[in-house]
Amino acid sequence: MGTISDYFGCLVFDDRVMKANLSSDVYRSLRKTIDQGAKLDASVANAVAAAMKDWAIANGATHFTHWFQPLTGITAEKHDSFISPAPDGGVIMDFSGKELIKGEPDASSFPSGGLRATFEARGYTAWDPTSYAFIKGKTLCIPTAFCSYGGEALDKKTPLLRSMEALNRQAMRILKLFGNKDVKCVRTSVGPEQEYFLIDKEMYDKRKDLIYTGRTLFGAKPPKGQEMDDHYFGVIKPRVAAYMADLNEELWKLGILAKTEHNEVAPAQHELAPIYTTTNVATDHNQLTMEIMQKVAAKHGLVCLLHEKPFAGVNGSGKHNNWSIATNTGVNLLSPGETPYENAQFLLFLCAVIKAVDDYQDLLRLSVATAGNDHRLGANEAPPAVVSIFLGDELMAILDAIENDTPYAGTQKTTMKLGVDVLPRFARDTTDRNRTSPFAFTGNKFEFRMLGSSNSIACANMMLNSAVAESLKIYADRLEGAEDFETALHEMIKKTIKDHKRILFNGNGYDDAWIAEAEKRGLCNYRTTPDCMPHLLDEKNVKMLTSHKVFTVAELESRCEIMLENYCKTVRIEATTMIDMARKQILPAVESYVSDLAKASAAKKAVAPAAACAYETGLITKLSVLTDQIAEKTDELETALLDLNGIADTKEESFAIRDTILGKMAALRAVADEAETQTAEKYWPFPTYGDLLFGVR
Ligand code: ADP
Ligand code: MG
Repeated sequence: MGTISDYFGCLVFDDRVMKANLSSDVYRSLRKTIDQGAKLDASVANAVAAAMKDWAIANGATHFTHWFQPLTGITAEKHDSFISPAPDGGVIMDFSGKELIKGEPDASSFPSGGLRATFEARGYTAWDPTSYAFIKGKTLCIPTAFCSYGGEALDKKTPLLRSMEALNRQAMRILKLFGNKDVKCVRTSVGPEQEYFLIDKEMYDKRKDLIYTGRTLFGAKPPKGQEMDDHYFGVIKPRVAAYMADLNEELWKLGILAKTEHNEVAPAQHELAPIYTTTNVATDHNQLTMEIMQKVAAKHGLVCLLHEKPFAGVNGSGKHNNWSIATNTGVNLLSPGETPYENAQFLLFLCAVIKAVDDYQDLLRLSVATAGNDHRLGANEAPPAVVSIFLGDELMAILDAIENDTPYAGTQKTTMKLGVDVLPRFARDTTDRNRTSPFAFTGNKFEFRMLGSSNSIACANMMLNSAVAESLKIYADRLEGAEDFETALHEMIKKTIKDHKRILFNGNGYDDAWIAEAEKRGLCNYRTTPDCMPHLLDEKNVKMLTSHKVFTVAELESRCEIMLENYCKTVRIEATTMIDMARKQILPAVESYVSDLAKASAAKKAVAPAAACAYETGLITKLSVLTDQIAEKTDELETALLDLNGIADTKEESFAIRDTILGKMAALRAVADEAETQTAEKYWPFPTYGDLLFGVR
């Protein structure tokens, strides 16, 4: 395959290919569209399309697709071949600028939350030139946004791009006030760390729960779990290493900067982190990464599980969203600078994030809410459902000093006036790395750790960008009208610290005492998806998101509906799968074991009439109680599911699921898992936790 630098990005229509294959006029015009969002005229679009097509065909493509991210959370594509009939009976390969820019998939089956009646089925897809086209298999994939005919966003990319634009607008106002003249735009960047499980495909195929729901719904605790901490950063097993090598190669070909790989805490759990890039591209890349992870696994006889909680009792999988804001000139605005003004600017951006996270805790929480992630948040492996910020001791001390006009011990013994005194140079990451905080400052970026492994990072980032844009807007409004910039700046930073310090918490986020303390501080604690999702429509949230033009009211209403619907459907499928497995696999298995035990004891008695057969009798009694309980709990779950059909409102249904179905599922699982521990191995109808977690060697 050659060296990495030879093939890196070979499947991407990137800047190198554009430069080589477009006339300099067309190239310049396209660059302007990519860098500054300038409109592309038809002749340029045609030239780009022709070059793209030739390049794609030369690299083996026969089809093209508008690749988009509907609200299902995964990506969608509909392939069209390049062929077009020629008068002589043959075909020519054809692809126009029009086809590049706009597509009209018949997309009536994607969730729209009532935004688009089925009679106006056709949505349209629009080319996003800021994310490079690429080849997957035999198809040229063109990243696109997906909207209804009325122009409402039906996808995750559109609001993400809008939120980046909102943040750009407000950040530019602030930078201007600080005298930055050469900055043309501001963008957020993200490096998402992706966790996943790898299990054996043959074992996977025997588990209906994994096949239908992505997680195990039954399974007794194996003798060994993660208690020895021997998997984390452990030596990577040969089969996994081969998988990772293959995966990296596929990702590199797609221009994805896969960088770090290691074993995670749970057995069979691993992590992959790319080098960060612009949020929009990082989002596309993360979606692709998740897809390629699964595809490559199949080649290795493995299955990659991206569910947040595939196994009870060991850690689930998350996704850490490392996020920062940078100028087009390469300055990271969350990195403390060298000069007083840069430091004041840094503090202002830092405060903007603190204010944003406090004011919009609910939006951040709900941006990661799914039925799957509900199992993880607040368990002993992921941050609680309460949002808080970790800044580290040093930065906390600095903010303290500013708030109270007291000298900061780390510097000269004078009080700091921002913009005049040099902010003490504090080392990056001096304090221990707090792994328990949902939102941690790590030297020059924030790490949002609540995301579940299967979440699209678009959701978290659109909320984060919008909320920070709102803080910056409030700051800019105030500062632009200020008589004395420095005094106003100082007062505003002080006020932010005073008003929002309740969100700052450096301690152990896993501690129960913190949850009580957080409640006292008035922080939200929305434990489940039904608890938090309706807050999307709270007045303050609608006001903020619509004022920055990230969402319309109709889009927000539809999203809330879709997210709750997803929650309900997910749990319903899980419950139905449990009923199926209990009745068709678990009960018959235990019955046949009991019947063999009875036969064995009868046979013993035939030979030795005095034999007590206490073992068989005891076990049969125990298992008979358990089978009765399994049957009973299965029936109860079924009845509860049927009761849901009487509920018309999605929100009400989600509450009923939260309050009754989940409990009944847990009750059924408890007795079935107990039966597993009492049943001989060869009778158990599917691979156990031990098999699944330790089966890949
Ligand atoms: P750790 O596991 O120690 O938190 P990793 O190296 O696994 O760290 O992941 C850190 C992630 O943060 C990487 O994706 C990295 O590229 C990303 N990152 C580093 N600097 C920035 C930045 N300025 N903005 C956004 N992401 C960043
Ligand atoms: Mg990491």
